[in-house]
Amino acid sequence: MTEQTAQAQAAPVPSDHIMGVYQRAPLAFERGEGARLYTAEGEAYLDCMAGIAVNALGHANPKLVQALKDQAEKLWHVSNIFQIPGQEKLAGMLTAATFADVVFFTNSGAEAIECAIKTARKHHWKNGQPERIDIIGFEGSFHGRTLAAVNASGNPSYLEGFGPPMPGFVHLPFGDFEAIEQAVGATTAAIILEPVQGEGGARAFPDALLRKIRQLCDETGTLLIYDEIQCGLGRSGRLFVYDWLEGDATPDIMAVAKALGGGFPVGACLATADAAKGMTPGSHGSTYGGNPLAMAVGAAAVEELTKPELMAHVREVAGYFTQQLSGLQDRFPDVVVDIRGKGLLIGVKLATPNREFMQHARDEHLLIAGGGDNCVRLLPPLNLTLEEAREAIGKFERACEAARAKARAAA
Ligand SMILES: *Cc1c(COP(=O)(O)O)cnc(C)c1O
Repeated sequence: MTEQTAQAQAAPVPSDHIMGVYQRAPLAFERGEGARLYTAEGEAYLDCMAGIAVNALGHANPKLVQALKDQAEKLWHVSNIFQIPGQEKLAGMLTAATFADVVFFTNSGAEAIECAIKTARKHHWKNGQPERIDIIGFEGSFHGRTLAAVNASGNPSYLEGFGPPMPGFVHLPFGDFEAIEQAVGATTAAIILEPVQGEGGARAFPDALLRKIRQLCDETGTLLIYDEIQCGLGRSGRLFVYDWLEGDATPDIMAVAKALGGGFPVGACLATADAAKGMTPGSHGSTYGGNPLAMAVGAAAVEELTKPELMAHVREVAGYFTQQLSGLQDRFPDVVVDIRGKGLLIGVKLATPNREFMQHARDEHLLIAGGGDNCVRLLPPLNLTLEEAREAIGKFERACEAARAKARAAA
């Protein structure tokens, strides 16, 4: 064994052979169970990021494992040129639980966004208004990493070096309704937003603003696209964030992914029949999208995620976190600046660097995610127990102490 491979086994180092687009933590896991992840050495970590809101039912959830195993022994893949009963089943479940009439299945969130944008533009084209191509998005948004998705998000650092910004995308400041009113015009196709921004730092659109946007869309024939890839499927304490508005701000098109497969890659673009009227045979497609493995796991996940008792549990655990984190904000005003988000999409804005704080948390064997605006995010599995939440708060508190000590030593 060379010295280099010995080192690599002790602590994972940046790979020579993986495209270097991630700054990875020096940590690798071998298995998971519920909210616990275990390294090859058997060290346990409490997972309060859940693969960035993906493992919503915990790691190795027995129901999802069983669904995957059962399907794996029957059929993995055919092609979308055939009927896929699993798609009919999952689409039926999703449309029954939402505003939507139809669903297109994808392998990822970004692809669900692609489908949403194409659906919106094609709708207007079908209506004889091909000039309506503009997609209006908001500062702080994140819609994925395909070219259309980074153009929709407009984050300059994700666009840099990838050629000129695409035409047909407009970006507005967060929360400014007057700017939206002014921007919507004869060439507007759709407004796209995350009802609770994830990567941007767990920022929720105020309910009143969502209502006004919906109304403006109705008045102007603009389609409203929600990106509930991160905040949807139960994370907010209702199945979707728009459910909190009781029918007042329902979208025309919605992208979901992440929790949909609980760790198996699957996404979906949901739409009303009218919004999707341009999506006729040949207008879109995907080789893998909606394949039988993804559909089997997705159906098992949605069955769990639509249980009212799980939503009640999310609200209870979220209430506990919010209360405890506010207490920590009072005790560590030099570290914790703000608590935000909705349900178990919790953002903690920090006064000390968030990347360092994530390391302090890892030192306590607590895994949390970063976020924009110097936030860290807590995105635990939705079935995290209150006892585990208590443990997470204890670890978070010790991370606050470490962050304070570090800031004082530097001062
Ligand atoms: C993760 C995420 C995406 C992108 O999903 P991918 O599966 O990484 O393509 C898009 N929008 C939001 C809100 C997300 O959180």
